[in-house]
Amino acid sequence: MAHPTLSIVNSSKSADFSSQTSQARKVIDNLNTDKQFLLELSNKLHSTLDIKKLIILLDLEITPILNLDNVIYQAINDQKGINTKGRHAISYQLILHEQNLGGITLVRRRRFNKKEQKFIEKILVSILSPLSNSIDYQTAIQAAEHDPLTGVYNRFAMENSLQREIELAQRNQTPLSMIVLDVDFFKKVNDTYGHATGDCVLKHLTECIKDCARDSDMLFRYGGEEFMLLLNNTTREGTRHLADRIRQTIEETPCFCTGENISITASMGVSSFTKDDTRETFFARADKALYQAKDSGRNRVIFQD
Ligand code: GH3
Ligand code: MG
Ligand code: MG
Repeated sequence: MAHPTLSIVNSSKSADFSSQTSQARKVIDNLNTDKQFLLELSNKLHSTLDIKKLIILLDLEITPILNLDNVIYQAINDQKGINTKGRHAISYQLILHEQNLGGITLVRRRRFNKKEQKFIEKILVSILSPLSNSIDYQTAIQAAEHDPLTGVYNRFAMENSLQREIELAQRNQTPLSMIVLDVDFFKKVNDTYGHATGDCVLKHLTECIKDCARDSDMLFRYGGEEFMLLLNNTTREGTRHLADRIRQTIEETPCFCTGENISITASMGVSSFTKDDTRETFFARADKALYQAKDSGRNRVIFQD
């Protein structure tokens, strides 16, 4: 079995350890042999599956000892550069059983000397297993809640979010609205151009919707070509405007898929939550409006009171 690996990807040159405070030096001296400390640290780090909390726990443990300015974790897909602003930084790539867990950078005013590097490496070995668990957990959550084709939330996430947002809206007395959307004559797209083109059209459609929506709006794909946009803090009027904008954007944005220029439109039903609503009636009113939009000619928005 492969061993945990920590590879230094860049580091400051060794520095004068005598400038270390005496208390910090003592802790570092002790740590070279202090298995108890490492055990306690490992237990603490295993107490969460939240990557952010994990890094905060690490930060709390090592910042006072090393007098750090910053502890920065970068996930493998995080391409952002780190600005160390003339300070010293030491970066490690974290690898466990050939799984790349991302990188960690410690930043401070003074350079890191050899003894401190050794200490840091011992500490970082303790984070490998909890970090790997956290990443696996987040990946599983991501897969359970998202649609693999379009990347938006799936039906499972929709049920949970709807319940949560209704409770929040009731508690905070804020408006909550939804738009349900169904692509018009989508079967024809598949029949004419093939399933792969149909898939590409669905991805294009989600981009059109996301371009119109706010970051706080939640988009779900709850059926084959059926989507729901849940809008917290959004009134009936605001939702009507947004739905019109989405309808127009879908109709007017060119859709190039597998070498074809495809025209698509969508029909939408809109509802706003009322005090007598349940999750089911709130959705059913929007769904009913969607069917009215289909019946009355498609490529339109209908609001259900
Ligand atoms: P309407 O305007 O009444 O909504 O007509 P429609 O053709 O869009 O509706 P219908 O329910 O008859 O067809 C939906 C089509 O969506 C049929 C199915 O093949 C297609 N579909 C469902 N899921 C997917 C998918 O993941 N990818 C592709 N390419 N097509 C899908
Ligand atoms: Mg449909
Ligand atoms: Mg359809």
